[in-house]
Amino acid sequence: MTEESQALREDVPGGPENRPGPGSGSDGSPSRVRPTSLAETAAALETAAAEQQSLLFTGAGTALDWGAPVTRTDLVVETGGLDRLISHAAEDWTVGVEAGMPLARLQEQLAPAGQWLPVDAPTAKAGATLGGLLAGGDVGPRRLKYGGLSDLVIGATLVLADGTVVRTGGDVIKNVAGYDLAKLMAGSFGAFGMVARLNLRVHPLPESTTTLALAALDAGQALTAARAVMRSPLEPVAVEWDGERLLIRFHGTEDSTAARGRLGAELPELAGARVLDADEEEPAWEAHAAKIAGEEGDTVLRAATRPARLPALHAKLQELAEGSGVRAAIVSGIAQGLHTVVLRGGEAEGHAAALTAWRQAVHESDGSVTLRRRREGVDARAESWGPAPATTPLLRSLKQQFDPDDRCAPGRFAPWF
Ligand SMILES: Cc1cc2nc3c(=O)[nH]c(=O)nc-3n(C[C@H](O)[C@H](O)[C@H](O)COP(=O)(O)OP(=O)(O)OC[C@H]3O[C@@H](n4cnc5c(N)ncnc54)[C@H](O)[C@@H]3O)c2cc1C
Repeated sequence: MTEESQALREDVPGGPENRPGPGSGSDGSPSRVRPTSLAETAAALETAAAEQQSLLFTGAGTALDWGAPVTRTDLVVETGGLDRLISHAAEDWTVGVEAGMPLARLQEQLAPAGQWLPVDAPTAKAGATLGGLLAGGDVGPRRLKYGGLSDLVIGATLVLADGTVVRTGGDVIKNVAGYDLAKLMAGSFGAFGMVARLNLRVHPLPESTTTLALAALDAGQALTAARAVMRSPLEPVAVEWDGERLLIRFHGTEDSTAARGRLGAELPELAGARVLDADEEEPAWEAHAAKIAGEEGDTVLRAATRPARLPALHAKLQELAEGSGVRAAIVSGIAQGLHTVVLRGGEAEGHAAALTAWRQAVHESDGSVTLRRRREGVDARAESWGPAPATTPLLRSLKQQFDPDDRCAPGRFAPWF
């Protein structure tokens, strides 16, 4: 172990609920390290490699339980010490950040230039970091217009399990030809190495935002209205159905958002829609995000399907949930075919049964369902990821190249690799 990484290391109580390994603290908990530079990160990972320690990268910890449970952690690598703004070229619409930079702080730093990173994550309030956001691979309602975080990444610096620093895009230290490593990191849950720095594309802050709301208790009605607004020239930035109402958001100048809201409400398929008052808009989207997050004891699923399949799959979900003694609520990015399902009440057996049977139905419709938050006891009865996709052999071989000893978040993608 180098003197530098030894100095960074400390044993702390608590930590992830998984099996600690030989390099762990004296009380059996994993050790922690909080590097404050790229060099310190590389040194810490090199030392961990020499000791064959398994690694868990952590940002703010808001999504550490997503994916299959990690089976062993010797060293928790906290990214909070890597939280600097490296560069901001406002005229080029780009920003360079260290991966532990909280999204909320980045937005504050971009705002004076009239810019923002168009990422919705409500976990920003809890300090969610850019590295965690990329590795978590989630997207929010406004992806409809702006894409996900992975679409905004123009370059990344990664530290692999053995401490090797790899840069992709932009300025090259060591390039790995043929792979878009930044894209590989999106949704990697820390299993391929640590994201240390990111170069990102930013957007102009919208001058104005407005939201149209339509009471829509039925998935078919919501789908018809969503299709009408997507076919129109109104260009919404988000179209979301929460099982009770459809929310349609517009960005632009004051005049254009006012006109879009008015014209949207005039579409025959949106009869009865109304533009939310300014003081209703943010609370409506916050309530929407809270439904997606779920509560303690809930099981939360994320599904991707063709948008047109929603009504049939929603009906199937309700039938299966009822048969399993649980309640099911859906929040759907209806124009994107991305849905979040929250299972509540009943027993863990019911949650697992509804998840497994609904996943089968979605899979038969060419969609996928992954497990996010879960009620205690569900992991023992249901898989996190479902059937392996056709890309699994490729992912396995990439994992073998980047982390041959399987030390980065082992078990996270089980049973795929
Ligand atoms: C209601 C809701 C809406 C959301 N909407 C969006 C959205 O619109 N867009 C969006 O992007 N996300 C969204 N998210 C998810 C959000 O992605 C996570 O909360 C966030 O990714 C976690 O950041 P964190 O710093 O807390 O990461 P952590 O919880 O600490 O880590 C998350 C995962 O990433 C790994 N990890 C963390 N840092 C690194 C790193 N530097 N390198 C490699 N691996 C790392 C961890 O091991 C873990 O597997 C949403 C979440 C919720 C609950």
